[in-house]
Amino acid sequence: MIRNVLSIAGSDPSGGAGIQADLKAFSARGVYGMAVLTALTAQNTQGVSCVHPVPPQFVADQIEAIFADIRVDAVKIGMIANAGIAEAVVEALAPHRGIPIVLDPVMIAKGGAALLAADAVNILTQRLLPLATLLTPNLPEAAALLHEPVAEDRETMARQAQALAKLGPLAVLIKGGHLDSDESPDVLASPEGLMWFEASRVPTKNTHGTGCTLSSALAAEIAKGATLTEAVATAKQYLAGAVAAAGTLSVGSGHGPVQH
Ligand code: PLP
Repeated sequence: MIRNVLSIAGSDPSGGAGIQADLKAFSARGVYGMAVLTALTAQNTQGVSCVHPVPPQFVADQIEAIFADIRVDAVKIGMIANAGIAEAVVEALAPHRGIPIVLDPVMIAKGGAALLAADAVNILTQRLLPLATLLTPNLPEAAALLHEPVAEDRETMARQAQALAKLGPLAVLIKGGHLDSDESPDVLASPEGLMWFEASRVPTKNTHGTGCTLSSALAAEIAKGATLTEAVATAKQYLAGAVAAAGTLSVGSGHGPVQH
């Protein structure tokens, strides 16, 4: 039976990030994809020019419409834009405990645009983190959630992953892509302890939407029944292939998308 996976995230009309990336990743990983929109953005491979958040009640209406009719095997949460939308997502998901949730705490686009209002960080930490099965911050996001400096070494990454896990998610995967190193290791803190996933840095500027793609692939694998460790290994391998194939695309002149 094909699994159903829901993305709650923002739109990237250029197709590289947000729900567009999520739906491509869901198809590629063999699950049926659904998408609740939290915000429209105007953007291309060069950056985000503006953001138009969806009214919180309408975000809740979309989530309720899906759950009223469709079995949901896993949820991925990406850009939630502001505090009102974060609250609406928490309330709308509250009656549906037990469904795995992958939470990608999207805050700042690669070009520097804020994708989360400053006053929403506390709500994200206090109300959304405890719902997550797996939290997937990059280094700046992990630091922002902990109000700490950005990790520059493995020791700090490991400590921050464990500190974030104490805030409520079952597991935390901190992505090391922003490390100033030839390596780009990720660390998973789960009830089974710490685990490192090694990767060498791929020299490419086609990294637009890599976080969205990874978290969606993770949700797909978890929906299919993978353990957290299996899901991380498979999703990372899938993302590496998508980054490696990005050169076959010809999309824009900035940070291009990956090829799913
Ligand atoms: N736009 C939307 C709607 C997103 O959800 C995200 C990231 O998660 C981005 C843009 C940022 O993409 P990137 O930083 O990979 O360019």
